[in-house]
Amino acid sequence: MHKLPEKFINRIKNGFPNADELLTALNETSPISVRLNPGKPNSLNKLELDEEVLWCENGFYLKTRPKFTLDPLFHAGCYYPQEAGSMYIESVVKSLNFPDSPAILDLCAAPGGKSTLLAGFLNNNGILVSNEVIRSRANILAENITKAGYANCLVTNNDPKDFQNLKGAFDVVLIDAPCSGEGMFRKDPKSRGEWSEENANLCSARQKRILMDIWDSVKENGYIIYSTCTFNPDENENNIEWFLKELDCEVVPIPRFENMLPDSKGYGFYFVPGLIKSEGFYCCVLQKKELLNLKHKVKLENISILKSIDYISFISKKENSLIYWNHDNFLYSSTPKTLEFYQQSLIKLNWIKKGVKLGENHKKGFQPDIELALNSTLINSEICIELNEQDALKYLHGDTFPLDAPSGIHLVCYQKQPLGFIKHLGNRFNNLYPKEWRIRMDLGF
Ligand code: SAM
Repeated sequence: MHKLPEKFINRIKNGFPNADELLTALNETSPISVRLNPGKPNSLNKLELDEEVLWCENGFYLKTRPKFTLDPLFHAGCYYPQEAGSMYIESVVKSLNFPDSPAILDLCAAPGGKSTLLAGFLNNNGILVSNEVIRSRANILAENITKAGYANCLVTNNDPKDFQNLKGAFDVVLIDAPCSGEGMFRKDPKSRGEWSEENANLCSARQKRILMDIWDSVKENGYIIYSTCTFNPDENENNIEWFLKELDCEVVPIPRFENMLPDSKGYGFYFVPGLIKSEGFYCCVLQKKELLNLKHKVKLENISILKSIDYISFISKKENSLIYWNHDNFLYSSTPKTLEFYQQSLIKLNWIKKGVKLGENHKKGFQPDIELALNSTLINSEICIELNEQDALKYLHGDTFPLDAPSGIHLVCYQKQPLGFIKHLGNRFNNLYPKEWRIRMDLGF
């Protein structure tokens, strides 16, 4: 096991409050926690829920660590394993004063923990744009957003400076900044060997750059939620102090729960292991005060809206608040506001997910996409084939097995939660679960 870096220990001992509690706790076992998806309620029989996470309505600690990979409901998006401190973002967004249907940008979003939380909070109101600069991580982000199953989410793969053109577009920008990751020291002991003071300094400089790059895209009186998973003041309160000098903004008071530690300047709070059940988290909120002159007219990209999609039996007839459109030969759906946002910024961003991809009209008929199967707002789950646990895992593994069904495309479910599609050929079926998402471990049956 890697030891804690000497220079880290010295820095903590020379000035971080509750240093002994922190250093002791970093050598103890990590608590495990999950956040349930309010859009996909289920009995979750594989999870032994323990106490609630106080700062998040759907957050729970677990009594034991299950093998998440072997729970079909994890793949269905019914819950997301998430470090408890990170769930504080829910209390923060609930405390802010923004319009009913806000536009939120999660700038450093992969793998999607905070984005899926925000999607659940918005519950199809407003828009969530989740961005990730590293392409491979942007794909994982899109997978997790797809599994969360909301119809107001967009995913982009851009550098923060690419958002400069979207002046005043967002009511809230979450910067969950890339950091020196001292909050990973317990959960991932390897990270202790990767830490260095030089890297922490580079992180601090990069965080400043990210905030400057994104500044123009925040609305007047809009908010920047700034967070890290490190205990280094230079990446936290000292950076906030720098932002306050450079930019026209103010610190906003945010909710305080028992044992949260105020930072040394009173701007935000730390979640410190040993004091609170978390791996380590820092959060502070800034409100933009600068006046914006937004008189320019935005040209909307031309997209043809579809009048009827009644022929697609997989779409719930109960859903009438969404719109449907054709783009690049695919059919899509989303809330009207999400489409409008996408149309406005179409050319400026690198889109990984543009609303919910429903599928494609082929000569042979409609070929549905996995995004439709997992979208709880759109999918008609009344006509699904229920799989038992073993078969559900085999399906998620990419296998095929004996299954009685008429020829054609079918939705398959586990405990009524859609997992994906199959194409039945009469005597066998083709597994349409995306190759990149399949369970890779040997199932042993
Ligand atoms: N918010 C995520 C969640 O809750 O699941 C975790 C985000 S992680 C702390 C920081 C992310 O920032 C990483 O995905 C990383 O790839 C990305 N990143 C790295 N360099 C960046 C940069 N220069 N600008 C923006 N994002 C960057």
